[in-house]
Amino acid sequence: MSEHSVNRIVIDSSALGRNYRRMREIAGVPVMAMVKADGYGHGMVGAARAFARAGCSLFGVAELVEGIQLRRAGIDGDIYVTLGFTEQDPPLLLQHALTPVLYSYEAAAALSRHAVDLGVKVGVHVKVDTGMSRLGLFPDELPPFIDALKNLPGIELAGLMSHFPEADNPQANSTVTGLARFTRACADILANGGIICHIASSGAVLNTPATRCSQVRCGIALYGYHPAGRGEGVPLEPAMSCVSRVLQVKAFPAGVGISYGHTYRTTRPSRLAVLPIGYEDGYSRALSNRGEVLLHGRRAPVRGRICMNMCIVDVTDIEGVKAGDEAVLLGRQGEAVVDADELAAKTGTVSYEILCMLGNNNKREYRD
Ligand SMILES: *Cc1c(COP(=O)(O)O)cnc(C)c1O
Repeated sequence: MSEHSVNRIVIDSSALGRNYRRMREIAGVPVMAMVKADGYGHGMVGAARAFARAGCSLFGVAELVEGIQLRRAGIDGDIYVTLGFTEQDPPLLLQHALTPVLYSYEAAAALSRHAVDLGVKVGVHVKVDTGMSRLGLFPDELPPFIDALKNLPGIELAGLMSHFPEADNPQANSTVTGLARFTRACADILANGGIICHIASSGAVLNTPATRCSQVRCGIALYGYHPAGRGEGVPLEPAMSCVSRVLQVKAFPAGVGISYGHTYRTTRPSRLAVLPIGYEDGYSRALSNRGEVLLHGRRAPVRGRICMNMCIVDVTDIEGVKAGDEAVLLGRQGEAVVDADELAAKTGTVSYEILCMLGNNNKREYRD
């Protein structure tokens, strides 16, 4: 008996390290490891430690609170808070030596006041919207904003950043136009030297070398996946597995309705195995009658609806499955593999969401 759930997420931390080194080599410039969303489900601190061991010294989080957690866990290096900060945040930002990202004058002024109080000079990165239509200043707002920053004591421009909306698609025009807008926006500012610019995410690093600038920001590739699904060329290693165990195996005659709604009826005498994992654990209900799990190194199809914390799989064709056998919902068992791209394709989403849902709803274990 264990005090933990039967369901486990296993993270291969050496695979994280190898993915980091591979992307660092391809990028040819420093790689910021994006560890937001609890490290894309892999555990923010564990993932950051694995990347740091592989040589990473730049980290990206969404919110201030995540940066503080990383510092408390002993992560050194630069930690960028990419969603920006509120006017109340500067004391915490500076106390934890986090790298501020800016897109408003009010935030800049609040940071300036606090930096002056402490007698320090803080480098800031300004976010530019070059076509993502999300956070950031439009390129034509940049020159007056940068001028205004110059009049704020205690802060100085350290970098400019932007983000592509379709970096996963090598043909996307928005990458070309976004890069052109970014380069134009940076040109005058860069002429003064010493400014870091960064725009490329995993997809841009892999598909569009011209976007690499002074550094890049990678998320999904470090966790082992190509942004657009199954990738060409660069070998990446998925680091996350999801493992459960069979609770019970039962025999049914043909014609029996299975699980809520009886959306599946046995078409032959069948043996079905019940697993203690369901949509509350991040195994999406959209996988009802579609998902496949691995048992004895073979694929067992999900039958009927996935419940809140159970699902039912067909083991009629797999010899000898019994209660307690290990079932793999994501990852490898023998020669068979279920990856996050497969689950994403079956549920109309992306690997990113599959990793977050499974990873952030189950207990994680790290293996070297
Ligand atoms: C999440 C994120 C990235 C990383 O994107 P991937 O496609 O996972 O490589 C890069 N930049 C910003 C601003 C992000 O929020």
